[in-house]
Amino acid sequence: MQSQGQQMLETAQTLILKTSKRLNVSDEVISKLLNPNHIHTVDIPVIMDDGRTEIFRGYRVQHNNVLGPYKGGIRFHPQVSQEEVQALATLMSIKTSVAGIPLGGGKGGVVVDPRKLSRLELEHLSRAYVDKLFMHIGEDTDIPAPDVNTTPEIMAWMTDEYVQHMKSETETPNPSHKQLSEWAAAFTGKPVHLGGSLGRTEATGRGGVIALVALLAKLGRSKESLTIAVQGFGNVGYYFSKLASEQGYKVVAVSDSKTGIMLKDQAELDVVATLQCKTEKGALGECFCESGACRIDGGKTLMNDELLTLPVDVLVPAALENVINIENMKDIRAKIIVEMANGPITEDAYEYLISQGVIIIPDVLANAGGVVVSYLEWLQGTKNERWSEQEVNDKLHEIMTAAFERIWNQSVKRNIPLKEAAFEVAIERIVNEMH
Ligand code: GLU
Repeated sequence: MQSQGQQMLETAQTLILKTSKRLNVSDEVISKLLNPNHIHTVDIPVIMDDGRTEIFRGYRVQHNNVLGPYKGGIRFHPQVSQEEVQALATLMSIKTSVAGIPLGGGKGGVVVDPRKLSRLELEHLSRAYVDKLFMHIGEDTDIPAPDVNTTPEIMAWMTDEYVQHMKSETETPNPSHKQLSEWAAAFTGKPVHLGGSLGRTEATGRGGVIALVALLAKLGRSKESLTIAVQGFGNVGYYFSKLASEQGYKVVAVSDSKTGIMLKDQAELDVVATLQCKTEKGALGECFCESGACRIDGGKTLMNDELLTLPVDVLVPAALENVINIENMKDIRAKIIVEMANGPITEDAYEYLISQGVIIIPDVLANAGGVVVSYLEWLQGTKNERWSEQEVNDKLHEIMTAAFERIWNQSVKRNIPLKEAAFEVAIERIVNEMH
């Protein structure tokens, strides 16, 4: 039986192989696209609150840097494996290429359940990760960012650790503001007061809504009576839901890692109140119930998997990989899927859903908003500039819309689904740059 990570890696590699063959790419180049340039594996010692030292396994996979420095998040999750990180790094190379930005692809991960660590232990782990990988990171070489369970605060600890190393390495105890800004550009997704970009936190969700709006315009579908269900209520799922509701779309169900919630008769959810309630009560399941005993009345709780099979128009998996698979693919009723998580649909399920006429906005396009604003943060850092939120959002809109347009046109021209079109556009761009 294949692990989740192996399955995801195989899915990504199969798509690259098939696309490259279709494009008549040489075997030598195909091998470069399939295999990462470097896989760094480290054992990270962390002093725990009780004085013990615990060792955590960490990875940084640098997949491809033909278009620019390696770029991609670091995830903290118990299910992290080398294969998973490699698959995610591979998808990053495709994603940056799809977005048309001058960055390559990489990804990091630590095998840890961050909910079991104290704040101090989390800080130690974040700093120790950088200690171990410091020599491979840099604003011109490899630029990490947040991913599942990693936050702007974690980026702040990592950046500070990196800057301390740079100070001693370059013997510059009192660097200029400009120098500090450049060093800090080695990480994105930082808090705004530490050189982060306005709009970065919302960017992935915002980009997904831009892609959905662009698709609906092409299909000539109005937003009237269109229903959306979102799996995952972390940064990506929350902002997707919030921004979609603000633009007049009807979000009828959301879920976190434990439960889903919806109102009777597919009524519209108040996304902001739902987050407030989750923050207060600790779990979405506590917020809704049939009787008046709960905070928000008239609700219904769902098993997490149940959300995926609701009779909605648009399904948005915004949590983890492989959630739509051979087990549940026949029960999916949405006709549009926006892949806000990385790799949420397995290969079998993908083939099946496409054969049923389901339109899928692929992860490498749908969730590219995060890395696009990371790119804008990196630009601001290296130039020592600060842009307004409006400026950042306008640029994000411009880059996402242009990317959507390129992929849509390729899909129409070649009569292929959006995912294949995205891989074609991405691989063509990388291959052209190699010559
Ligand atoms: N972790 C995000 C992703 O999977 C963002 C990466 C970045 O900003 O570098 O796209």
